Amino acid sequence: MSAKNLKPKPESQRVGFAIVGIGKLSAEQLIPAIRTGQDAYVAALVTGDVEDTLQFSRAYDLADDDVYHYDDFEALAQRDDVQAVYIVLPNSMHREFVERAAKIGKHVLCEKPLASNLEDAKAMVKACKKAKVLLMTAYRIQYTPHHWEAKKTIAAGKLGQLKVMDSIHTHVEPDPTVWRLDEALAGGGPVMDIGIYSINTLRFLTGLEPQWVFAQGYQPKNDPRFAEVEESMSIMLGFEGGLIANILTSYGAQSVSTVHVLGDAGAAVLDPAFAYRGIELSIRNDKAQVAPQFAAYDQFGLEIDHFAQCVRSGKTPYTPGEEGVQDHRIFEAVYKSARKGKRVELKRFDGQDVFRGTPPKLPK
Ligand code: NAD
Repeated sequence: MSAKNLKPKPESQRVGFAIVGIGKLSAEQLIPAIRTGQDAYVAALVTGDVEDTLQFSRAYDLADDDVYHYDDFEALAQRDDVQAVYIVLPNSMHREFVERAAKIGKHVLCEKPLASNLEDAKAMVKACKKAKVLLMTAYRIQYTPHHWEAKKTIAAGKLGQLKVMDSIHTHVEPDPTVWRLDEALAGGGPVMDIGIYSINTLRFLTGLEPQWVFAQGYQPKNDPRFAEVEESMSIMLGFEGGLIANILTSYGAQSVSTVHVLGDAGAAVLDPAFAYRGIELSIRNDKAQVAPQFAAYDQFGLEIDHFAQCVRSGKTPYTPGEEGVQDHRIFEAVYKSARKGKRVELKRFDGQDVFRGTPPKLPK
């Protein structure tokens, strides 16, 4: 669903993407979104099961030789029409494919979390810098008109001085066999898969980096789903000037996705805050309450178009690899704090939006 109702640019003016990992997100969201966007198109698919993927690719009018097995990834080096790859694999596979993409000179858009641990995330940034290719972390929430409206409202001081924030992101994960519950593939539990939205969005909305973390979690002993990762985590983040945030994330509780940012003169509320569609924002102060409305948009389409524009211009994406690395620093501190039962200090960064690049052009 694209709000733009514009005719996409001809393929010769768009950036060709190879999608790596044809799972639920690629098939149901990303590939349909690219097709309705303006600046990108799907040139190739890379998969662990070529036969299975052919059924899918034919429905999208791709040629059979546009489908590659993971083992043949390097053949994309010969494809001048593939300028970028989009990595949509279980978290611990991101590093391998980002490094392989960098080696063959392709720009990389990589799903969140950037990796399954901090060390891998840093190595991925280094590899892309060395190869002089762009690396962007796919934080779709940083490309929506609703979240940008909230960010601008906060930056303009309309909520007054920020005091407290909270965010909940939960859902029930019913399948004990899913890779998300396997620590080696996922790196962690809901903190890294869905709690990441709360952490990343509060950082984005305020432009600030947390200075300390306190966290406590729960991992039930008698539930096979949580043999390796936490079921729930409560995370407190402390920012400069006494601003405090509370975050709740869980794979065991009903689906909720909310954000509250409260200042001494107003409040911004997003509910739902992280859904693929139907995000709602309300901004309140003592005098009024408004709910800004926007034409329908596809978050994935906006995010992918931004990266394609960066590939064309050579500009740093708004959410480069460094933005993903910072969330991994915070995850490490969350798990350390939960283990030790103590507050953990984070590396301090001065200024605002310190890890972000060129802001996206969004529809009004
Ligand atoms: P998925 O389970 O649908 O699998 C993605 C791909 O990985 C598929 O090709 C699948 O065959 C392959 N795969 C799955 N398990 C594997 C295993 N054990 N070994 C090797 N290959 C395996 O996953 P998904 O939901 O598409 O998630 C992929 C990535 O996208 C993850 O990093 C996830 O965090 C991210 N994601 C992001 C969003 C978002 O809104 N931005 C939403 C969902 C997922």
